[in-house]
Amino acid sequence: MISIFAQAEKHLEKTAIISDGTTYTYSQLLDASKAFASTLLDKNTDLNEARVAYMVNPGFDYVRVQWGIWRAGGVAVPLCLTYPLPSLRYTIENSGSSIVVVSPEFEELLKPLCEELGIRILTTIDSRLATSDSPLPTVSDSRRAMMLYTSGTTNLPKGVVSTHANLNAQISTLIDAWRWTSADYSICILPLHHIHGVINIVSCSLWAGATCQFLPSFSAEALFDIFKKGQLNVFMAVPTIYYKLITHWESLSEVDQKEMTHIMSKFRLMISGSAALPVSVMQRWKTISEHSLLERYGMTEIGMALSNPYDGPRVPGHVGYPLPGVQVRLADEQDNVIPGTEIGEIQVKGPNVFNEYWQKPESTAESFTKDGFFKTGDIATMDELGGYRILGRNSVDIIKSGGYKISALEIEEVLRTYPGIDDCCVVGVENDEWGELVSAAIVCQDDFDTKALNAWMREQMPAYKTPRAYHRLAELPRNAMGKVTKKDVVNLIKN
Ligand code: ATP
Ligand code: MG
Repeated sequence: MISIFAQAEKHLEKTAIISDGTTYTYSQLLDASKAFASTLLDKNTDLNEARVAYMVNPGFDYVRVQWGIWRAGGVAVPLCLTYPLPSLRYTIENSGSSIVVVSPEFEELLKPLCEELGIRILTTIDSRLATSDSPLPTVSDSRRAMMLYTSGTTNLPKGVVSTHANLNAQISTLIDAWRWTSADYSICILPLHHIHGVINIVSCSLWAGATCQFLPSFSAEALFDIFKKGQLNVFMAVPTIYYKLITHWESLSEVDQKEMTHIMSKFRLMISGSAALPVSVMQRWKTISEHSLLERYGMTEIGMALSNPYDGPRVPGHVGYPLPGVQVRLADEQDNVIPGTEIGEIQVKGPNVFNEYWQKPESTAESFTKDGFFKTGDIATMDELGGYRILGRNSVDIIKSGGYKISALEIEEVLRTYPGIDDCCVVGVENDEWGELVSAAIVCQDDFDTKALNAWMREQMPAYKTPRAYHRLAELPRNAMGKVTKKDVVNLIKN
């Protein structure tokens, strides 16, 4: 049996999901997913790894559909709810999905496309009427289970295919490391077509027999209202969400601030990931919630690989240590392992690591070393105790200028501490003389003095690291995960 179902069987009468004000037990979820599998199978006995794309609102329906696809032997391909039609078409066509499942409000949008492509479409409403009479196939761990597209931060999103065994490894290591238990109560505020929401929050909650609540559209106010009920004890988000929550907290009255701080201090665990957590955000969050955020590092292809400790100090700017069962190393450009204190690429091996980029055998082959480590493209260094510090992505955050390799993230950290900088990002802009020029995009008020900033920056770091130019932008371009899309920033700067 698929492992997460075996886990769920242990907690049948417990509340698994709260969505749209309704409470669902594990027993209801298991039954509903079996019924949905029967609908999907129609008269077939096994979907045999057929891809099933689904554009379904977060909550009970989402999990029922995802689990139903797994039970029927299919590959779950979650779609982004806010994508425009061309991007949805790309995902549906690229994944070769033969069935599309939609919440009723998305039917009108996707029906013409499905008709054009000859794809069966069904809504979550139709399928609720189904019964679960038909026998379900036996699904082994080595089968393909899910295809998640990467966040598209550096390029077009890539379809990452993971098997059930990969997902089991990704989930179970987090259950142990972050001490999930059936007494936990989490909330999902992140999109469910990326790993952070799907695996770290929802799948870990359900594997542990915990309760997972869903907040379909994020607002700081709505989230704080749920916090106030005092039931939640696990919270995970991306750095931009923490930033928004800090800003909202600061707008509250002193009495309300105190109340929120008291409530948040009672959480068991608060985690940040998906992008670098600015030290300033970590420090401010500590003062308003009394929590040292646990920062971790991972990606669609590998699940989570590094995590700050559950017990013990969580160092600002550090992403921690290898998770149990995950091998992590630093390597040079020839894939030779290097001592930790030097700078190199993070490479990862373990049962958590994905199988293939969908229909991209060459990209898949290029992404692995001869000895089977996945090349993440992220550059890092290590402290004496073996804790990792991310310097950025080789492709966009490591600026090659005048023979130096400069970490954009390091410069951003310094810039952020300067009064009047609301947001910032550092990029390399092509330049004949230097290779790339360190350039900063800053979000600030109209009367902001960039000359004074420049003079100050020169006192903070060596000249070769200080930005040669500052460009004001009204806001930074970000994707669905709140990550700055640096190629767009470079284009904005150039124009
Ligand atoms: P694409 O591969 O399409 O460009 P993406 O890499 O952003 O998009 P994901 O797989 O969602 O897609 O994100 C993984 C990446 O996020 C990692 O490779 C790393 O660059 C970044 N990341 C994740 N956690 C952290 C962290 N704690 N600190 C810094 N970067 C992080
Ligand atoms: Mg990536």
